[in-house]
Formats: sequence, C-alpha cells, structure tokens
Amino acid sequence: MTQPTILLALPSAHARVDEVRNSSLELITLARSLGRVDVVTMGAPSTEVLALLGLYDVEAVHQAALPTAVPEEQQRVTSNLAAVMVAAARKVHADVLLLPNGFAFKEIGAVAALRLKAGLVTDAAGVRWDAPGVLHVAKRVFGGTWDTVAEVRTDPAVVTVQANTVVAEPVGVGVGGVGVGAGGAGIPRVEALLVDLPPCAVTVKSREVSRKDEGRPDLEEASVVVAGGRGVNGDFGPVEELADVLGGAVGATRDAVFEGWFDRYIGQTGVTVAPAVYVAAGISGMPHHVSGITGSGQILAVNNDSDAPIFEMSDFGVVGDLAAVLPQAAETIRAWRAGREG
Ligand SMILES: Cc1cc2nc3c(=O)[nH]c(=O)nc-3n(C[C@H](O)[C@H](O)[C@H](O)COP(=O)(O)OP(=O)(O)OC[C@H]3O[C@@H](n4cnc5c(N)ncnc54)[C@H](O)[C@@H]3O)c2cc1C
Repeated sequence: MTQPTILLALPSAHARVDEVRNSSLELITLARSLGRVDVVTMGAPSTEVLALLGLYDVEAVHQAALPTAVPEEQQRVTSNLAAVMVAAARKVHADVLLLPNGFAFKEIGAVAALRLKAGLVTDAAGVRWDAPGVLHVAKRVFGGTWDTVAEVRTDPAVVTVQANTVVAEPVGVGVGGVGVGAGGAGIPRVEALLVDLPPCAVTVKSREVSRKDEGRPDLEEASVVVAGGRGVNGDFGPVEELADVLGGAVGATRDAVFEGWFDRYIGQTGVTVAPAVYVAAGISGMPHHVSGITGSGQILAVNNDSDAPIFEMSDFGVVGDLAAVLPQAAETIRAWRAGREG
C-alpha cells in the first residue's frame, strides 16, 4: 500500500527559523506518524527554514501563487485561504489535511472540507489510523466530561489539532543535538502551487492588528496559560506578572473581556487552549468557560471562595485573594530561579 499523504498549512511566510511556530513543528511530528508530509505556504520559506522542515521529514513545500491582481489583504480572506488548501489537497491527492486549531484555521478547515466533501473534526486531541482509510480522531467534549472518538472515512479528512497534543521532534535526534544522524528527507523540494480563486463575497476595506500581549506566546499555542476572571476586579497586573514569570500567555473569561479588562477570552465561544499548565485566577469555573480548557495538562485555581466550581476540576487549588497569592507565587518562582542560578 502506498503511504498516505498528509498535508499541512504552515502559517505565514518564514524567513527565519525562529518564526516557525512550535505548533507547526508539533503538527508535522503528528503528521509524520500518519504518512508522508507535504506543507503549503503562502510565502517563500528561506533555505534555513527549508532545512528545518527537512529535519522534520517534510518532503515537499507547495508555495501558493495567487493571481497577482488580488491585493495581499484580500488573499488572506477565509474563502481564498481555503481555496489554497483545496488546490494543494487536489494536487497531492492528500489523504488528510491537518490544520492548527485557531479560529481562522477552524474556519478555513470548514470551508475546505465543504468544497472537498470531506469529513471535518475540530479541536482534535489525538489522530491515528485505525485501518487504511479509517482515521481515528480523539476529542474531549461537553466541558471535559466525555472523551469521544470520531472515525473519519472520507478521502480526504480535515482535522484541526489542539496545540501541545504531541511533542515536536525532528527525525533522528542524536548525541550532540538536533539533526545529528537525522533520517529526514533532506531539504524538501519546493513547488509552485497555482491557485484559481473562486469569486469571493468579502472585500477587505482595512485591517488593523491590535494586541495587548505583544511578546508573549500565542494563547492557543502556549504551554502555560494564566487567565483572569471577574475576580481580578479590573486589574490584570498580577495575572500578567505571573504569566511573564512562567513565560506563558494571558487569557480571560468572557465576563472579564466584556468588562473591557482584556481582549481575548477562553471558552465555548472563545479560544480553546490546551497548555501543560492552566492557572485560573478569580474564575468561578462556569461550563461556558471550562469547555475551553479541558485539554489542559494541570489546572491550578486561585479563588477566594472555597466552594467555587473551578476547584472541582483543579489539580491544585489555593483559597485566597488573587491580588496577594499571584504576586507571592511570582516572587517565589523568581527567588527559586535566582537560587538555582546563583
Ligand atoms: C451563550 C454564552 C456563551 C458564553 N461563552 C463564554 C466563553 O466562551 N467563555 C467564558 O469565559 N464565558 C462565557 N460565557 C459566560 C459564562 O457563562 C460565565 O458567566 C463566565 O465564564 C464567568 O466569568 P468569571 O468566572 O470571570 O466570573 P464569575 O462567575 O463572576 O466568577 C468570579 C470568581 O472570582 C472569584 N473572586 C472574586 N474576587 C476574588 C479575589 N479577590 N481573589 C480570588 N478570587 C476572587 C469569585 O469567588 C468567583 O468565583 C458565556 C455565556 C453565555 C450565555
């Protein structure tokens, strides 16, 4: 039997190796366990980035070439990015399209799946073949109360995968570091991917990126997330301080965002996160919120109400005022680090 072809999207053009997101390398690692791996890019990856992709055993990079008449802002509209994935999937006869789990990619995945008549699973926490043509996709649902498995039998299948589902690993990590004795495919070949865009009902008039958490990891991909709720009472300072000490991302509940205290929230109608460590500060633990954190490894909660529902799903809890507990935790971590270094 020929090896299945797994197609991934590599978000944004990559000039430097450190611009390649860890979540992309995780996805490639997962893809490798399913078949041979091709990636799609919108820009030209540098030689260094191609070498990195080679270490992860990527065979080919399909560099999308959109009609030049389409302005850059317009190229990034969901319908057009879905057209890129569809064109690539058809070109390489992909068996599986694996995408990151952010809002944008869930939407792109849904549109691409519709056009390809493919089965779609979002928020996956594990993917493997059960049998040739039968893709086993694990997913936690209903606020973490059920672990489910979907069997996708369409060709192709489209799956968005939560960050931190696997550990990113190059092929053949040897003594002395990455790539020593690598059994990777070498430098992947780069091929142009000509994409015809279907008529698009959306016209981008202007685009402005506004982020309050510049310099921190992406919320959807971070391995540590510290989130604040209504209990922060307008001051995200302690939440941000602990996140920065831990090198993590900052999140919030919808109520905290609606109060105007932060800009992005986690939960059923917000972002889904799957960090190794999730810290909930001043968060009650309502189902709408916790449905977005069930992929977390360890859940730590700080709440001044010992009966808060969040404690029922926490691995570690502190009953106390977050304005006192979080700075103490940050200070203790700093002191512990200084002790180790000194
Ligand atoms: C259709 C719909 C969709 C929704 N989607 C989402 C969603 O995606 N994400 C989301 O988050 N919410 C969502 N919500 C809202 C959700 O139902 C809850 O209302 C919200 O999550 C509660 O936010 P909270 O925990 O910050 O506030 P609260 O429930 O008010 O909890 C605040 C907590 O802070 C504690 N506290 C107060 N002061 C302190 C202190 N000084 N120190 C420590 N602890 C303190 C309190 O004991 C309390 O437990 C949705 C609601 C609806 C109707």
